[in-house]
Amino acid sequence: MKFLLTTTLLAALSLSSAAQAQSSCPADPIGISITPAGTDRFEIGVSAVGASGAIDISWGPAQGTVDGTADFLSDVVFNLADGRSVEATYLGQGSWTVPGDAETRWDGYRYTLTAGHDAARWDVGKEEVAYRFDDAFYFVMHSVLAVNYAWTDCHFDVRFDIPDDWQALTPWNEEAENHFAVASLNDLLRNLIVVGPGLDPEMIRIGGLDVVIVTEEAFSSARQEFRNVLVESLARYGQIFGDMPMDRYLVAFGADEMNDGGAFAQSFGQRLPAPFRAHETLMWARALAHETLHAWIGHAIEADPYSELQWFTEGGTDYLTMKTLYRAGLVDADDVIFMIEGQIRRYFLGRISSGPISLAEAGENKQQNRQLVYGSGALFNFLLDAEMTAQSGPGAYEAALRGLYQADDTHYSEARLLAELDVVSDGAASEIHAWLNGPFNPFDVLARMDEAGLATSAFGPDEIMVRFAANGCSGSREPACMPDFLQR
Ligand SMILES: [Zn+2]
Repeated sequence: MKFLLTTTLLAALSLSSAAQAQSSCPADPIGISITPAGTDRFEIGVSAVGASGAIDISWGPAQGTVDGTADFLSDVVFNLADGRSVEATYLGQGSWTVPGDAETRWDGYRYTLTAGHDAARWDVGKEEVAYRFDDAFYFVMHSVLAVNYAWTDCHFDVRFDIPDDWQALTPWNEEAENHFAVASLNDLLRNLIVVGPGLDPEMIRIGGLDVVIVTEEAFSSARQEFRNVLVESLARYGQIFGDMPMDRYLVAFGADEMNDGGAFAQSFGQRLPAPFRAHETLMWARALAHETLHAWIGHAIEADPYSELQWFTEGGTDYLTMKTLYRAGLVDADDVIFMIEGQIRRYFLGRISSGPISLAEAGENKQQNRQLVYGSGALFNFLLDAEMTAQSGPGAYEAALRGLYQADDTHYSEARLLAELDVVSDGAASEIHAWLNGPFNPFDVLARMDEAGLATSAFGPDEIMVRFAANGCSGSREPACMPDFLQR
């Protein structure tokens, strides 16, 4: 369920931009102040002279709450143009307005944020909402910051009024100490921040990108490994796509029961079990490299409409993550076998559980159709890479991805994506897509994977075995038998 809030926000952002011919910025910049006010409370103040309309957070439900993310905001007060302060009217679903006439102008508002999110159980994962980060606080901004969603193209000036032993870690441009300039509503809301005492962030520079890594205490000994995966994968993605899609990137590692991650505009929150266990590297490294790759595939190369290309942005990310981890020496050939087996199994089980829907339709309910969305996209990219390498040699598939990323318009519908890929693959993209989208025959799928250099075997749809059978091999785990397009 980890994309629920992000999806909700995207829908809200596009709704509000459609509703208004151009975004209305009441002030330039709009001022936001964040001030700690006791144990787990913050006073949030927003200054926007001459504004009107409702303010919203991205509302999401959770077990243990009455009203989801809205439970943690209280005492919402608007400052009117005539100097009066009035208590806001709550409209439900994380939306507040001035009482009475919705057209009434206001100059700002304030409210109390209580960081008690750990008491609830968030289906989307707490890294998508908020949690205590040791003695500090991890916040995903759209869950805690109420703003007017028509402020899409506004600039924001965010100030943290915090004690000397606190730090504010954000992916935004730091103008002065604890004072940040934010270029858009998207950058403001679709990011995480970590604020509080006891933080020991580490900064590294990779190909012009400033990366800030912060971990909970439980992972201080694992930092070297986290850094290694980030450096290797980011450097390789930069080479594939030609450059970095952002200047700054904030990565936070927190403890939880399971591996999961949330990717945001210029930040990423990973959670994994503590204590750190070496044998789990494939799990967390894959999640870290996957979410990082979303900066290019998913955020820069953007699905538009969102649901239509989730099979490509998720499955393509899964496939290129696997290939990159192997080429960087972060996983071995057995790990690649494990991942391809999972990709085939996911497609099979997804085809059975989701029924006869198209890949584009599957994206409309991404979590419910998760196996089909991720599995089909991974197989599409695997087969496209195999086909393009056979046609044009090594690197052809990566060059095609770079072309998508470097295009003037990086919003892709399914039709446009396939048309662009068809040009460089002699129509293979549409052919593979139509085949994966068409009547389901698992034996055809296995046969086609075998043609691409694998030796597959299945016992029912849920037990899949993969071996490598390229370069004259008949079925082996040896790296030399791996298809050339996957080789190091
Ligand atoms: Zn993803």
